[in-house]
Amino acid sequence: MTEPAHIDFFNTNAESWYVEVILPLALPRNYTWHVPAEMVAAIEPGVRVEVVLGRNKKYAGIVKRLHQEKPAAFEPKDVLNVLDDTPIVYQQQLALWEWMAHYYLCSEGEVMQAALPTHFKLSSETILVFNEEAGEDFSNLDDEEFLVAEALSIRNQLRLTEIQQLLDASHVYPVIKRLLDKNLCFVWEELKQTYKEKHETFILLKPEYHEEDALAELMNNWSRAPKQLELLLAFLHLHKTEGEVTQPALLKKSGASAAQLKGLLEKGILIAEKRSVDRLHSVAREVNINFKLSEQQSEALNELRNSLEQKAVCLLHGITSSGKTQVYVKMMEEAIKQGKQVLYMLPEIALTAQVIRRLQQYFGGYIVIYHSRFNPNERVELWNKVKSGEARIILGARSSLFLPFQNLGLVICDEEHDSSFKQQDPAPRYNARDAGIYLAQLFSARTILGSATPSLESYYNAQQGKYGLVELNQRYGDIALPEIMLVDTKKIQTPDKSKVIISPDLEKAITKSILNNKQVILFQNRRGYSPYQVCQSCGWIPHCQQCDVSLTYHKIKHKLICHYCGTIYPTVSVCEACGNHHFTQQNFGTERIEESLQELFPKARIARMDIDAVKGKHAHDALIQLFEQRRIDILVGTQMVVKGLDFEHVALVGILDADAILGFADFRVNERGFQLMEQVSGRAGRKGDQGKVLIQVRNTGHPVLKYVQLHDYKAFVKAELESRHQFGYPPFSRMIQLRFRHKQPEVVAGAARQIADWLKPVFGAYLIGPAAPVVNRVRNQYLMELMIKLPKDLHLLQQCKDQIQLLTAHLHQQPPYKSVIVTPDIDPI
Ligand code: ADP
Ligand code: ZN
Ligand code: ZN
Repeated sequence: MTEPAHIDFFNTNAESWYVEVILPLALPRNYTWHVPAEMVAAIEPGVRVEVVLGRNKKYAGIVKRLHQEKPAAFEPKDVLNVLDDTPIVYQQQLALWEWMAHYYLCSEGEVMQAALPTHFKLSSETILVFNEEAGEDFSNLDDEEFLVAEALSIRNQLRLTEIQQLLDASHVYPVIKRLLDKNLCFVWEELKQTYKEKHETFILLKPEYHEEDALAELMNNWSRAPKQLELLLAFLHLHKTEGEVTQPALLKKSGASAAQLKGLLEKGILIAEKRSVDRLHSVAREVNINFKLSEQQSEALNELRNSLEQKAVCLLHGITSSGKTQVYVKMMEEAIKQGKQVLYMLPEIALTAQVIRRLQQYFGGYIVIYHSRFNPNERVELWNKVKSGEARIILGARSSLFLPFQNLGLVICDEEHDSSFKQQDPAPRYNARDAGIYLAQLFSARTILGSATPSLESYYNAQQGKYGLVELNQRYGDIALPEIMLVDTKKIQTPDKSKVIISPDLEKAITKSILNNKQVILFQNRRGYSPYQVCQSCGWIPHCQQCDVSLTYHKIKHKLICHYCGTIYPTVSVCEACGNHHFTQQNFGTERIEESLQELFPKARIARMDIDAVKGKHAHDALIQLFEQRRIDILVGTQMVVKGLDFEHVALVGILDADAILGFADFRVNERGFQLMEQVSGRAGRKGDQGKVLIQVRNTGHPVLKYVQLHDYKAFVKAELESRHQFGYPPFSRMIQLRFRHKQPEVVAGAARQIADWLKPVFGAYLIGPAAPVVNRVRNQYLMELMIKLPKDLHLLQQCKDQIQLLTAHLHQQPPYKSVIVTPDIDPI
């Protein structure tokens, strides 16, 4: 990299300088602009510059490289303005973008698009919206800022091109940047995400009673209101075990009334404070690790440390509830003591208030959370805190990987097997686990991958010695893993031959749990009431008009819904094929289960957790909290109930239809099935007595069930690796998937065949397809897929990727295929 320090500022005849700029677009490569002499000193990699692309489209792009290589083919235009005093990303982030674009076959601009908060991405198309809350005090604005602010306050929103007409064109971007920094306006796109804060009342002890003596004296001299004393004791207990105490949790725990709490508040012993649940501002920056590792956990910690001295990545394979989190906490503590930053990634759904509270209890204000609920200003605020190094532990889902870390020391990828670490659409289609490992390497940092059910890829890497491997095979407190029983649903008769929803065995077990004052979780992989209505006489099924997929009946809405495109249809009462009026509902979703439960257990408190019932993150957190506080007896849910939740009182877990989990035609079906069932089971019996799991299934002989019953991950992996080896699937090969999309079926099929034909001479042995996927039409676009299953050979992999890019460009030059969309997906899952 050429340093601008070499420039001779006083020699105006010095050679010209150029910049390579990344624009937030899917361009085949980065372009070059000329840097006017007076701007050279202000430019370094990572700062934004304003440039014109094409005739008059303007963009804020990021400087990747400052150099003196004049492009031979054309005369580059001038950079118009430099927008930042200091880089908004560091070299490491630029390096990550470059790698990602190269590895996942997309442009650096597409990575930039995913990486930067909207605030930083300006173009002629950008619409600015006035921030009403900022008020109309414009006294601290300069003339140009004032002009724009005033226009905005009148018109409410302006396109960047309109602002251009207000100001001297050469000034627009810097002025906008300053207005955004001053919080006077937003970039419109951001407002699409509606942001609502959630408040909750927290109960605190008055500071003077933080002194143990003062507290003891208070309690020793307590004379009247014994109920209030009980309430105070309950508070102290909760405070000690949970850290933060909310008003509902306290009232629930103590069984006290609001009036009794009011009494304590009036006496000035406790304080009530209304706080936003998301914001963490009032928390002190102090580390408070108040637990001791068990012997097995300490051993694991030592092994982990040793392993990370030898290897950059270590897999922590710990069974459910073994205390992986506690081990991470110790590793995180060490990293921040060395002044380093920690990135802790979790699947989005697992990023619940529960986990946040737990970590916050240990790390206070050192921890920050990056999630999709942030409003635009908070996003930028957090961005800057990470960049300055003030934010030390960053907890987030996959996209937190893009934050501008300054001094990263440790990356933790928890639940590393989870497929939500893979971004599906749009590009970059990256896997945050793998990209996290790459990011860590850029900082010479370490990576811990943790799971109770590691992906076969990671486990294989550990077996091969590429990663370290540390195991935790006891639950904390030495509680036994739950007992797993199969319920053979073949043997159960239902009146109309429909599928069994709640078998008599399960019904009995639920009754028993509720009698014992324990909670139940029921898992079903389908939402809605029933996946489809079927004509009783001819078997006709209503389909979506835009997708090749049958519709799901949602009883609460009384509608048929396409789960692929979201289109809503009225229910059908007459068969379109034969005119019959009788329909049966096949299979069952969560809504249907909820209804059955209400019939069977009219007194039980039942709740449903799926994306229909739980709109938005807060509803999810609220439901989890209700369940934690034992205000729900039976929780029915999809995937959402599986991820990393830690409940104390769940004695029974039911998996209602294991055949649906094991019935997919995909080489990963066994792995997914094992992971899902083991993880769901892991919610049972985490504290206290051994839990119980009932699995309802017809195909009781399915090999995966045997391993799940024994909780034998290793035996499962051994068998599964053998079969993957035999058929040459990952981790013994690398997969690339090409997806083709077009509105005419012949065109898309032709395009897929064409690419396959071109690939054949070199890669013929590795091609699978092209073929139409199971659902071969979505939103009126026809789909084709071509799989490439390559041997593990880096050279061949690269050659194949190069070919794909070349051939795609080639395809688009053929008139019939011009508008076929081709998306490459590297390491698809
Ligand atoms: P995992 O992530 O492996 O499923 P967790 O870290 O959630 O397990 O631990 C399970 C439960 O046991 C949690 O409630 C946790 O607080 C508790 N626990 C684990 N280890 C300890 C420890 N050393 N001291 C106190 N509690 C612990
Ligand atoms: Zn019919
Ligand atoms: Zn559809």
